[in-house]
Amino acid sequence: MGDAFNDDECDYLFKAVLIGDSGVGKSNLLSRFSRNEFRLDSKPTIGVEFAYKNIRVGDKLIKAQIWDTAGQERFRAITSSYYRGALGAMLVYDLTRRATFDNLRKWLEELRRFANTDMVIVLVGNKSDLVDKREVEEKEGRNLAEKEGLCFMETSALENVNVEEAYLEMVTKIFEITSHKNV
Ligand code: GDP
Repeated sequence: MGDAFNDDECDYLFKAVLIGDSGVGKSNLLSRFSRNEFRLDSKPTIGVEFAYKNIRVGDKLIKAQIWDTAGQERFRAITSSYYRGALGAMLVYDLTRRATFDNLRKWLEELRRFANTDMVIVLVGNKSDLVDKREVEEKEGRNLAEKEGLCFMETSALENVNVEEAYLEMVTKIFEITSHKNV
């Protein structure tokens, strides 16, 4: 099946990537999802990191392999191999920093240059717990998502709001596309 394949315990394995500006919360969205942890420290390491999580969609067990840039975006050092084979992307901005929202255009261009054409992209406005610091309204995120054909969700990695839901939405959509192709 190309990019999604069977292994012993699960029916499918999907690769998905996290992208977005530095500091938007990518690594915390990953650790919250995969280990239910939140990290207040910043990352000491540079180099791609990834985590696995099993998700049940209907009667299928799907193993999601989620890649994190681990800080490489700071040096604009993400290469095409990061995106290779990825069926989904979580494109993250920080709703308390407008610049991270403005930069989405650049990230979308990069995704469309390197990634699969039918990649499932979930636009994620993170840090919804910081209500007094909000610089990007929810409807701005929603409008952009509609215009670009993306899924959309606001999350808080800190308070564990909508994190599971965002990944679930991505994995379910990937599953729908992949199983449809295999018919
Ligand atoms: P990355 O560079 O995109 O991987 O971002 P990190 O996950 O390292 O997070 C950057 C900073 O934002 C850290 O200080 C985190 O503690 C903080 N952070 C991440 N997610 C949230 C969130 O949902 N709410 C709040 N208040 N802070 C967050």
